[in-house]
Amino acid sequence: MAKGILVDSSGRRFVNEDSYIGHLGQSALLGRGGEVYYVTDESKFEVNFVGMQVNWVAETVGELAEDMGLPPDVLANTVAEYNRHALSGDDPEFHKRAEFVEPLEPLFGAVDLRAASGTIYATFTLGGLRTDETSRVLDGGGHPIPGLFAAGRCTAGISRGGYVSGISLGDGTFFGRRAGAGAAALGS
Ligand SMILES: Cc1cc2nc3c(=O)[nH]c(=O)nc-3n(C[C@H](O)[C@H](O)[C@H](O)COP(=O)(O)OP(=O)(O)OC[C@H]3O[C@@H](n4cnc5c(N)ncnc54)[C@H](O)[C@@H]3O)c2cc1C
Repeated sequence: MAKGILVDSSGRRFVNEDSYIGHLGQSALLGRGGEVYYVTDESKFEVNFVGMQVNWVAETVGELAEDMGLPPDVLANTVAEYNRHALSGDDPEFHKRAEFVEPLEPLFGAVDLRAASGTIYATFTLGGLRTDETSRVLDGGGHPIPGLFAAGRCTAGISRGGYVSGISLGDGTFFGRRAGAGAAALGS
């Protein structure tokens, strides 16, 4: 799927399509309100493991946009700009890896990825206990609760503003060690 492009309801790209799936979901749902479409072409499209099918097919990007209900000029410009750089394997706007950057050519196709159409994104909620840099749990006023430490995914941790693969094990081990050391120090 990374060889196609994701566009929002304005017909513009908004994310590196080669991003971690959690980041794609967050960008689509929080950043674009779930109003997202996937634009591809016949040579690149493959039915994936969830059986995703194209909803629209057209000879030109303009026709495709009209069928999708997107601004034809904008989508045509988005694809033209993408293709212009893709000829040399570049994606200066979002820095997709070169192996996934190829010009989109007729026959064009698009998949309806709107949340309202039932699309499910591979993402998840984040949040939990607020902790400080020594893994002490903070109360509503931001003050440490005596004797209470926490680490791992029961805490908000460092991934409140976004998630990247590795953050869970990273902050779980780093702050877990600090929590253990803090708790042990209380007993000594
Ligand atoms: C398929 C998959 C792939 C993942 N890939 C990655 C990845 O690539 N990188 C990354 O960073 N993260 C990844 N994660 C997420 C990461 O593994 C978890 O977020 C992380 O392990 C959470 O650690 P934790 O210590 O908070 O919780 P957990 O690892 O769930 O530990 C909680 C522990 O508490 C125990 N427990 C529960 N209830 C009780 C009780 N009442 N009494 C005593 N013990 C109890 C449980 O048995 C468990 O051992 C992945 C997760 C999954 C499921």
